[in-house]
Amino acid sequence: MLPHCLRADLHCHSTCSDGTLSPAALAQQAHAAGIDLWALTDHDTLAGQDEACQAAQALGLVWVSGVEVSASWAGHTIHIVGLGVDTQHPGLQQLLQAHRTSRPQRAQAMAQQLQALGIAGAYAGALRHAGHPDRLSRTHLARYLVECGRCQSVAEVFRHYLSAGKPGYMPPAWAGVAAVVAQIRAAGGVAVLAHPARYKLSALQEAALFDAFAQVGGQALEVCTSTHSPAQVQQYAAVARQRGWAASVGSDFHSPHESRHALGQTPSLPRGVLPVWALLQARRPT
Ligand code: AMP
Ligand code: MN
Ligand code: MN
Ligand code: MN
Repeated sequence: MLPHCLRADLHCHSTCSDGTLSPAALAQQAHAAGIDLWALTDHDTLAGQDEACQAAQALGLVWVSGVEVSASWAGHTIHIVGLGVDTQHPGLQQLLQAHRTSRPQRAQAMAQQLQALGIAGAYAGALRHAGHPDRLSRTHLARYLVECGRCQSVAEVFRHYLSAGKPGYMPPAWAGVAAVVAQIRAAGGVAVLAHPARYKLSALQEAALFDAFAQVGGQALEVCTSTHSPAQVQQYAAVARQRGWAASVGSDFHSPHESRHALGQTPSLPRGVLPVWALLQARRPT
């Protein structure tokens, strides 16, 4: 039985999406940070899972499969982490592939908008960072803008150019929350609503999102994440308790230079919530 106070990090990114470290390098960092339970959750891909699993096994680190799936809800992009999914599940694979296939076109459109603002070469520049067109994300465009001196940091690029409503932004074409949760669950996974404070929703909108997530079978809320203040951790722990959801924890680590928390630095879950690993364990008796 895994204890409540496990040091878990169930949300991070590798070079398979918009992180800068390989899955194996992340496993090493997770192990060095004293993590007991680890998941790699790349955006819309399971490509790094085998490497993550093997590297974790070699280190004696307990690993669980993971993915962070983009989803659309009422005109907002919502991220849903799937933990403990079957990485070969055809329905989930198909949904993730459709998301990846849409990425080059969206990046091209955003690069054109940046070109109109006098920023040349953004598509090719982002592609150098991403390594493959299907991985292209706003993060790679942002890294290019920092590289060419247009902004000081990735965060500054998002503030000025790449967030919704800013001149470089192009809306995505993600599947809806219902379809995403359905595929995560069909693949045997637990669906976790990621970093709820990041969506900048009003209290009413947030309650509507939580209702929708519950209605379609969502099972857990990311209570501890690098962008939550201590007050937000308490606030979302209360939501998890009230809604009967489990609680998850993850750094959302992308890069040593860009991320607020290193792997394993996110505070542990507060008392009184059901840790998401209790659900993962209940699902797969050992
Ligand atoms: P995309 O999937 O192409 O829309 O890109 C989403 C990614 O952009 C997220 O996973 C984050 O890594 C990054 N991102 C979004 N907003 C911000 C922000 N304000 N500051 C830094 N990175 C951000
Ligand atoms: Mn990201
Ligand atoms: Mn996210
Ligand atoms: Mn993430």
